[in-house]
Amino acid sequence: MPDAMSNALRYVSTRGGAAPVGFADTLLAGLAPDGGLYIPETWPAFTPDEIAAFAGKPYAEVAAAVIGKFAGESFPPEVLLPICREAYATFAHPSATPLRELDSGLWLLELFHGPTLAFKDVAMQLLARLYQHVLAGSGRKLTIVVATSGDTGGAAVEAFRGLANVDIVVLFPEGRISEVQRRFMTTTGAPNVRCVAVQGAFDDCQTIVKSLFADDDFRTAVDLSGVNSINWARVAAQAVYYFTAAVSLGAPARKVSFAVPTGNFGDAFAGYVATKLGLPVERITLAVNSNDILARTIKEGRYASGQVTPTQSPAMDIQIASNFERLFFESVKRDAGVTAAAFKGFAATGGMDIPEAALAAMRGLFGGETVDEPQTTASMKASFEATGELIDPHTAVGVAAAQRLERRATPLVVLSTAHPAKFPDEVEAATGRAPAMHPRAQGLFALPEAIDRLPADAAAVKAYVRAFVGK
Ligand SMILES: *Cc1c(COP(=O)(O)O)cnc(C)c1O
Repeated sequence: MPDAMSNALRYVSTRGGAAPVGFADTLLAGLAPDGGLYIPETWPAFTPDEIAAFAGKPYAEVAAAVIGKFAGESFPPEVLLPICREAYATFAHPSATPLRELDSGLWLLELFHGPTLAFKDVAMQLLARLYQHVLAGSGRKLTIVVATSGDTGGAAVEAFRGLANVDIVVLFPEGRISEVQRRFMTTTGAPNVRCVAVQGAFDDCQTIVKSLFADDDFRTAVDLSGVNSINWARVAAQAVYYFTAAVSLGAPARKVSFAVPTGNFGDAFAGYVATKLGLPVERITLAVNSNDILARTIKEGRYASGQVTPTQSPAMDIQIASNFERLFFESVKRDAGVTAAAFKGFAATGGMDIPEAALAAMRGLFGGETVDEPQTTASMKASFEATGELIDPHTAVGVAAAQRLERRATPLVVLSTAHPAKFPDEVEAATGRAPAMHPRAQGLFALPEAIDRLPADAAAVKAYVRAFVGK
């Protein structure tokens, strides 16, 4: 790849055991070959004037500027800007990710106006177009295997279906996702798409994907690629809306805080990335459901996974938050040896202590709030009664967490991660009001679904993928 040879920004693995690569390579690889996650070797940054100049700009232009800081020479502005324009033209709102005031000083950042009604579209619509650009004319055909807790799968299938250079297999936990979520991925009829119901939880799906990457023979044979939230380009794409939201609320002259419904720590880590790029953020609150590994880690200093409990916010039913490894690496001052030892230990025992200084660094930006099921229900109900508008259960977790925080002069923005019509049963149970069927979901119910079933077993998934892609 040309950008690995030049002075362009390079990406290193959090575990230090992989050669630095350029943006295009990290895009296609997903996970680093040593099991670590790619992260920029140095942080690029905007000046306050550059950030102020984002005010009033179309979303696609801010996206091209922010992602351009990371994409470097693989995507010069004359290539990246049209890609961003095309990606965000698929959104049903002219500003792509609009802000709505929920309460005095409390804002909802609506990230669900994309084709599959959840924030995953923001990154995935871009990612598929970046892949297409890099792969065009290369003769390469990649196999994407992606684990989903419900929304990534639909967003990935919608973005990658019909692409000539990519086959895609989605693994989802059987019975643990909503019908609308499922139908977004199972009804495309595209020949390059397969959807697999795995008999297990999301963490099993994610662990299987990681073990596929760890198998050199398999990885090479199928030209394996990953678009889970560990993919750096996804994180970069998600940093964009922190800028557009903050700038429209007065940044960089004024600080803004965020509350982020989180599971895999991708969206929340994108907020950290925005701060490294120079955005003044006061606080990021990690809002979690009863699967509260992240809130416990920030509060208690121990990162330890428990049993996954199914909740009404299934996209956050996660007990291993993959992107946390990036924050850990940053918080131990980028010591790859310490990071590798810590996460290998965690993989073996299911728990690890965060070093004191690293924990203090994390607490400098992040707080954590656990929102249980009754509180999630109450949050949907209270929002509806106060504003007449419905919010989805994931957003409700974010709003409940935000309502606990002391409201100061700093505006507080809750990331609204899914459209209520994606979770109609939970929303109706909480509020007594069924969300209207969304036009983008309507057609799904008339289409046949294609689903295969497999046990939560990496060998079975490997055999299935090989048979599908013919290798
Ligand atoms: C994926 C998802 C989340 C969690 O995002 P992470 O990046 O995994 O923290 C929250 N809400 C919804 C609706 C999602 O689809």
